[in-house]
Amino acid sequence: MYRDTWAEINLNHIRTNLSVIRQTLSAQVKLMAVVKANGYGHGDVETARSAELAGADYLAVAYLDEAIHLRTKGIKLPILILTPIKPDDVQLAIAFDLMLTVTSAAWFEEMRVFKEEAYCSKLKVHVKMDTGLGRIGIKTKEEWDEIVPWLRAADIVVDGFYTHFATAGMADTTYLDQQAQRFMTMMGWSETSSIRVNHFHCAGSAAALRFPHLAMDMVRIGAAMYGFYPQNLISHLQLEPALSLHSRLIQVKKLMKGEFLGYDNLYQAEADEWIGTIPIGYADGWSQRMQHTELLIEGQRAPIVGKICMDQLMVRLPEYCEEGTLVTLIGKQGDEEITFNELAAHIGSVSQEISTSLTARVAREYTGKKEAGAKWVKQTLPFTSSSVKM
Ligand SMILES: *Cc1c(COP(=O)(O)O)cnc(C)c1O
Repeated sequence: MYRDTWAEINLNHIRTNLSVIRQTLSAQVKLMAVVKANGYGHGDVETARSAELAGADYLAVAYLDEAIHLRTKGIKLPILILTPIKPDDVQLAIAFDLMLTVTSAAWFEEMRVFKEEAYCSKLKVHVKMDTGLGRIGIKTKEEWDEIVPWLRAADIVVDGFYTHFATAGMADTTYLDQQAQRFMTMMGWSETSSIRVNHFHCAGSAAALRFPHLAMDMVRIGAAMYGFYPQNLISHLQLEPALSLHSRLIQVKKLMKGEFLGYDNLYQAEADEWIGTIPIGYADGWSQRMQHTELLIEGQRAPIVGKICMDQLMVRLPEYCEEGTLVTLIGKQGDEEITFNELAAHIGSVSQEISTSLTARVAREYTGKKEAGAKWVKQTLPFTSSSVKM
């Protein structure tokens, strides 16, 4: 790419974060690295490889397309798809050796049109339970009793049984405790129905790091592997953000006192000021919600002024700077740092919304070790379209 705006992704930080997390877990707990949404914006294949090198046991993505993309790039780890897929696509999932989240008997019934029980290949599933998030999953004993016969089929392997917490990042643990209790009850259902389950799991990053007793057989680590975590609640760990965002001044001009700047005359100079223009805008994921935040130039904080445009934004410089000067929108310059936490607080969201919002137009530049050996080992594609039975 030919533009001076790029996200730098330090893969060593992802690997170190995962190693630090791994050290907090008992040896028998498996680590599932969550690389959905293009690895939370960090690059799906690169983060999946880093997770593999750091000893992750499983990967997770949200959708079938994301999983197929990883497989076609040679990623070999077991992959769980966290959102139910269409029953019609079941053979595709089997061909690419993917594990599915299942939440209803109706899904199995429809799926059987596309996969006969006699068909020799096994389908690995993780049954999702709704213990209070209210998103997807089996909520009642009746729903469980309906799905049980389908789980007993000879070609179905129940590799997992899981739930997801609503409030793992909140200081008050009352609701989380209730969800955990509810999950224990549901785990009892699987036992009384004699369904053999390989892995019980309930903890994402926040729960896994705050409450080690909830790690069970596996933890699903997304945010924390990228260096996002509630620092106020998890003070015993030091995780490093892997992504920083940079650009350069493409024009520097003087704005005289009283002159306007940007669309809708949003900004008016209070004095004679130096203004710099930067080639990044809302079409890159730097939304207008970032109005009134700061960025770093020459190691100093400088405020974004005027409306953020589609492709550019303007900044009030602390002093005259040359065109081409480095600008850091997320990350460090000298002693100053713009953190994901600071920006997330400003827009009333979480760090991962900012990293996943960076569009494909922002170049990703990787630093740190990508491979175990020095050489790039080209992997052959494990599947061809002809091996996929439709
Ligand atoms: C995204 C997701 C995770 C990862 O959560 P983090 O808080 O980013 O670690 C875990 N489980 C499920 C079901 C998810 O959808």
